[in-house]
Order: sequence, then structure tokens, then C-alpha cells
Amino acid sequence: MKAAIVTEDKKVRVEEKQLRPLNHGEALVQMEYCGVCHTDLHVKNADFGNVTGRVLGHEGIGKVIKLGEGVTSLEIGDRVSIAWLFESCGRCEYCLTGRETLCRQVKNAGYTVDGAMAEQCIVTADYAVKVPDQLDPAAATSVTCAGVTTYKAVKVSNIRPGQWIGIFGIGGLGNLAVQYAKHVFNAKVIAFDISDEKLELALKVGADHAVNSLKDDPVLKAKQLTNGDGLDATVVTAVAKKPFNQAVDVVKAGGRVVAVGLPTDKMDLDIPRLVLDGIQVIGSLVGTREDLQEAFGFAAEGKVVPIVSKRKIDDINQIFEEMEEGKIQGRMVIDFTT
Ligand SMILES: [Zn+2]
Ligand SMILES: [Zn+2]
Repeated sequence: MKAAIVTEDKKVRVEEKQLRPLNHGEALVQMEYCGVCHTDLHVKNADFGNVTGRVLGHEGIGKVIKLGEGVTSLEIGDRVSIAWLFESCGRCEYCLTGRETLCRQVKNAGYTVDGAMAEQCIVTADYAVKVPDQLDPAAATSVTCAGVTTYKAVKVSNIRPGQWIGIFGIGGLGNLAVQYAKHVFNAKVIAFDISDEKLELALKVGADHAVNSLKDDPVLKAKQLTNGDGLDATVVTAVAKKPFNQAVDVVKAGGRVVAVGLPTDKMDLDIPRLVLDGIQVIGSLVGTREDLQEAFGFAAEGKVVPIVSKRKIDDINQIFEEMEEGKIQGRMVIDFTT
């Protein structure tokens, strides 16, 4: 079968690969689609360490075609996802308290184990979350990563219906954060970005207001829009330091700031502001299997609609170039169905 494999010179080569036989508790999935994520770019560029020879991909959707011994959670023909959370230990403090993404022994698809950017993929059956029939499989790839990540982040923000939430950075993650915040959590949403084009998209998918932080002072704007109060919570998907600081400045006393984007930088935290105003700053990493199931459910109801374009696997290096040049709107999805 064909697979997108990381090479020594930080490229990806599409080549034939023979899969090993299934072990106990594993299933074989015939891939239909796999999204191309910024994280794949980091993995391929060896930003998280050298993984030459690894099959990329953690936004995979496909159908189960073979079951290993002892699999009870899946049946042949089930449509399932292969996510960044490929497997966790199931026994530690984190796994036992609903925080399996923090497991210290976690395995990640397309990084520490072979992933889903291939015609076939071996999964740990208990970690392959089923995809509802009503959900388009190409769109489901985005829910598997960006969708569940932003759904979880909005959940962690503790936002309640009618409250104000700010989403910083309206890229592949941010536009889904807007949709989950607006259409699932019934919050009032302000989108912050420095690109008018992206802000236009935010308004199209449900944001109540859009603020260009280059043209307007985000703090002043947030105050104006909320009768001088400030926002109840913010979610930061941006990949620069400045929006992280702004996200702290726009919340009111008791507000929550949820960090999702990953700039390799430090943010400034004004200690008196943190203490006197009781501000909470929290990191949020992807989502659990339960979160993913919920995120799929809302997408299947049509409340959240990912924007995807289908591409061929042979385009993979070109897709990474487009990604590095910031040319991509929504998500590029590798199509294995044709
Ligand atoms: Zn991803
Ligand atoms: Zn664990």
C-alpha cells in the first residue's frame, strides 16, 4: 500500500509499504481521507525530533476491513477516526480521571507510531472513535483534530449561554472554535485576527463581531462591545505571542484564558492583574475519545461545518509548501477513495 513517509531531508516520500500482521486488540482500516495539519509540518521538519521513516497523519477517516484477536468495540465496515491520541496507557492517574491526553505514555499517530496518511493503517481498536453516518467523511477529518481541539478548548473555558467569548486567530482551528462557541455553546462570539479575509470568514461562520487587532485596539473594542465589562473567556489559537497577551487583557475579572496555539515563545503575565482580578490561564491539548465523540455528534447535526479541499497524496510536498507560505484556507485533505 502507498504511504506518505518522512525522509531524512525533511521531505515526504510517497512509497509502497508492507504492513505487519495485526496484534491482539488491533484493527486494519482502509483509509478514505486524511487531513494535512500544521503538526504534520512540524513532525516532518523534525521540530519534535527526528522521525525518519514514520508514516505521517493523525486526521484519518476510514473503514475497518480486518479485526485482530480480542476486538469487541468495532465491526468490519465501521467508519472510524485515527487521531493524534492514538493510544494511552489506560491505567495512570490521567487516564483514570478523564485526562487521557496528558498520559505520560501516550502514543501519537503520525509521530510516535505510524499514522493515517496511507492507503491502510493499523489502529488500536479501543481508541478508534466511530464516525456518525450523517457526517461527511472528508469533513470528519477536520473534526478529528481541529474540531475536537477547539470544542474541548471552548468546553474548558466554562463559557455559558449568552456570555461573551473571544476567539484569537481565525485559521483552521479558529473558524471551528467560532462555530462550536456560537452554535453549540450559544455564546456571543468576538473574533480577533489581523487579516480582514479571515475575519470575514469568522463572521460568515457565526461570529457576532470581528476585530482587526492591527487596526483597532482589541482591549478597547472588547470593552465597547460588552458595555465596559470585558469578555467572560477567550480561546487563543493564534501562533504568535501578541494575541496571547491580548487574550488576557480583554477578559473581565474572573475570566478564563484557554491557550491552544503553539508559538515557541513565552507570554507576559502581569501578576497583580492575575491575582487581583482572579484571571485563570489554562492550556488545553486536543481532546479525549469522549470529547471526539461529542464533537463528531455536533458536526453530524450540521452545527459545525469544516471547510475542506480534497487533494491527491502525490501533492503532499506541495501542500506543505503552500502551508508554509500561509496560502491555505480551511484544510487540505488527502483523498484515498479514487
Ligand atoms: Zn492535526
Ligand atoms: Zn495513562
